[in-house]
Amino acid sequence: MEKDLVLEIKKLKQERGAVILAHNYQIPPIQDIADLLGDSLELAKVSRNLKNKLIVFCGVKFMAETAKILSPEKLVLLPVMEAGCPLADSISVDELKALRRKYPDYKVVSYVNSSAEVKALSDVCCTSANAVEVVRKLDSRHIIFTPDKNLGWWVKNNVPEKDMIIWEGFCPVHEKFDYQELKEARDAHPEAEVIVHPECPPEILENSDCILSTAGMLKRAKESKAENFIVGTEEGMIYRLKKENPHKHFYSLGKNKICEDMKKIELNDLYLSLRDKKYAVSLDERIINAARGALERMVAVG
Ligand code: SF4
Repeated sequence: MEKDLVLEIKKLKQERGAVILAHNYQIPPIQDIADLLGDSLELAKVSRNLKNKLIVFCGVKFMAETAKILSPEKLVLLPVMEAGCPLADSISVDELKALRRKYPDYKVVSYVNSSAEVKALSDVCCTSANAVEVVRKLDSRHIIFTPDKNLGWWVKNNVPEKDMIIWEGFCPVHEKFDYQELKEARDAHPEAEVIVHPECPPEILENSDCILSTAGMLKRAKESKAENFIVGTEEGMIYRLKKENPHKHFYSLGKNKICEDMKKIELNDLYLSLRDKKYAVSLDERIINAARGALERMVAVG
């Protein structure tokens, strides 16, 4: 059955001239069938330069919106429209407008995990891979950072010369990591390197060996001499780490670090998406134009 679906998807993809992009947290069958797999920054960059007129984005809504903003002339499909992100939903347009009014001299840096409307109100976006560089290079000392408080804390630690107001949003998956889990994991695997995502709480970041985006984790796993790794991010990441490093060992930090939204797209949804061209991401032209500047500045930092 799965084999048939995979064949059908490949056939439809060919007929439609489509490309399938998938985030590193997607379920294994989606990771396996994707043309390109990556983190937010990699996928944003790739979507901008693709020749294909049709992009099927296997991720969550803000990621498909980002692809649409960077390539408005293309048809961008999100196979399950309900695949959202509670972190992106943690700040509304009105809340950000109120902050801007209160602090008119501050520039707004928004993590890419935000709605298209919030991006449109931001001076620049960032990903976990380039947040420190984006803030460091910004031509303002005064910064409003939205929406992730843990990423904001980490950036502030790395760029102490900046005055930052940090929004109190968080990713419910990464927020669950706690110090006790980290201690137990280190006791169980004392030789392992601890690699964690900057959306984790400060006490996890402070007690880890490396703080990395998912793309950074893949690079580190390949280059490090370590053979064992404790991984502090959404569990879907372990599949790709193991696949690309079959002789190394990866252990999730604690249990149940699963993003339900990232698991919503299954092979059948991808098949229906290609067959019926659904669900098309549609954004107001004003929002696209305003958000594109913030995203282009993010991509330019690299
Ligand atoms: S892992 Fe967290 S930040 Fe990423 S999509 Fe899920 S809820 Fe949003």
